[in-house]
Amino acid sequence: ACINEFLSEMDELDLYEIREEVGKGAFSVVKKCVSRKTKQEFAVKIITTSKLTKRDFEKLEREARVCQKLRHKNIVRLHETFDQGGYHYMLFDLITGGELFEDIVTREYYSEREASRCIQQILEAVSFCHKNDVVHRDLKPENLLLDSKRPNAAIKLADFGLAIECQGNKPDHFGFAGTPGYLSPEVIKKEKYNKPVDMWAVGVILYILLVGYPPFWEEDAKAMYEIIREGKYSYPSPEWDTVSRDAKQLIDSMLRVDPNKRITAVEALRHPWICNREKVANAVH
Ligand code: ADP
Ligand code: MG
Repeated sequence: ACINEFLSEMDELDLYEIREEVGKGAFSVVKKCVSRKTKQEFAVKIITTSKLTKRDFEKLEREARVCQKLRHKNIVRLHETFDQGGYHYMLFDLITGGELFEDIVTREYYSEREASRCIQQILEAVSFCHKNDVVHRDLKPENLLLDSKRPNAAIKLADFGLAIECQGNKPDHFGFAGTPGYLSPEVIKKEKYNKPVDMWAVGVILYILLVGYPPFWEEDAKAMYEIIREGKYSYPSPEWDTVSRDAKQLIDSMLRVDPNKRITAVEALRHPWICNREKVANAVH
């Protein structure tokens, strides 16, 4: 009964026709939808509002505010939000290539060239967020979408559900948030933090792109937090043997335990492995 109610409610949207599901998050379902008037396609993130607290509503407002101020080619664009019949709707551009996560799983790992091109786009999105005093806090391959199924498709950063608005670069207590494998040491230590937490996550993503497994992994979350706090990761043989020194050097500069010594997005965009890709990124791996 519950599901039927859900479907019929959503079919009743005046301006849009809701179609099939295209993704799912912890608290949301994302569906394709079509404007009845213009036939233009969108992705609509739907959240049940009946059980939400005032604090949850504030978070939804913040997510919309943050998305709306970030207009960038590598960031998913939010068109409008509205509440209707017990649901909150967020209308985004429809991104059709799926999650970077699925692409890594299918292909196992990326060549250095592909990884460099991919990380460059992620860095463009992150540096734009940071320039606008937004910290994403949940960078991971599930929240990075591919514009199409074609090779070299553009990457779009999505899911600003945990994003915060900071004031400049001053670290503050923003609370414990993120996804375990991507959490930075300063978040785990419950210290004040700021933009560098995103660059730590980019380091984790880059590591995963190159070999298909994460730098920090333990069954037990406590044990995993322990190795993250200490920044204990390695480059096991043989898969890392063919990876260039520049790639490892860039990962090392992102996975610096001390956030003050960690590379920034703008600096990383100037790193030779990113901006001098044809010469530096190993063609073999
Ligand atoms: P949550 O905050 O619940 O994690 P997300 O915003 O990450 O929700 O959306 C959940 C999933 O829906 C994403 O991981 C992705 O697969 C899919 N998705 C989100 N936005 C879009 C979009 N604009 N176009 C296509 N798929 C999307
Ligand atoms: Mg998500």
